[in-house]
Amino acid sequence: MSRDTPVTPGQVKEITAFSNPVIKDIRALALKKNRDASSRFVAEGLKLLTDALDGGWTIHIVIYAKQIADNPKVQAAASRARVKGALIIETSEKLLSGITRRDNPQMVVSVIGQRWQPVDKISPNSAEMWIALDRVRDPGNLGTIIRTADCAGASGILLVGETTDPWSMEAVRASMGSIFHVPVARADQETFTAWRKSWPGIVVGTHLDGEIDYRSLDPGDKPVLLLMGNEQQGLPDSLTQICDHLCQIPMAGQADSLNLAVATGIMTFELRRHALQLPSPAGAQS
Ligand code: SAM
Repeated sequence: MSRDTPVTPGQVKEITAFSNPVIKDIRALALKKNRDASSRFVAEGLKLLTDALDGGWTIHIVIYAKQIADNPKVQAAASRARVKGALIIETSEKLLSGITRRDNPQMVVSVIGQRWQPVDKISPNSAEMWIALDRVRDPGNLGTIIRTADCAGASGILLVGETTDPWSMEAVRASMGSIFHVPVARADQETFTAWRKSWPGIVVGTHLDGEIDYRSLDPGDKPVLLLMGNEQQGLPDSLTQICDHLCQIPMAGQADSLNLAVATGIMTFELRRHALQLPSPAGAQS
């Protein structure tokens, strides 16, 4: 017989058995079909839990290792989540390893409700930037791009076609918490192409054969939609045709192309260059 007690919402429970149904449900979130069905995902670490709480995200479950149960920051975050109705679980490091599939797991793991930005609610102001990713495949690339978009002050990410899941543990991990700060929308290619017609600024595509050097573009205060291609195939003709400009990042050496996340970072910071300034040093005379 399991020595675990049944869990009820709003209470701290100790669970150490992998066979516990709540633990089974959390582990099942490793599969996209279960994340889709429940509209939930797993986030690792206290920082991500705190980011989610600060952003008003719905926290369903907080699970932490018994050895850090007395940590005041963990206690504060767990109690904030509990007030909002989250289930709070104390467990073993071994069980956290099983959930996160890591030998050295984070000591706090949360189950959080997904948030999608509806495409038809995207209405950019001047000088705003959105990044559209055509069929992005690699979760590490996607998480890194979300983090980069956050760093550059881009307004959101639009996933086009069949893409990797932004709510997978790998993508969330690579986003380093930026998944809670950068809205993510999705659309199939047909919807995206139709929606693009109402984009009020310029659409900048990137291609290995792009005719414009990316450094020569000056979007001024127009909203920019940056369109990046799939890791293997690049942008198809059907998408290059809807771009106002097709840019190339000049390269030297023998590599065929830049990694998608790196190319997105270069493009994003270049197109956001007017908006990104170092603060003036304290006491500097104007
Ligand atoms: N074999 C693919 C191709 O032929 O396009 C390579 C795709 S590359 C790994 C992924 C994406 O990164 C490209 O579709 C493009 O959006 C961007 N990219 C990579 N290197 C680039 C470069 N030098 N100039 C412009 N875009 C680039």
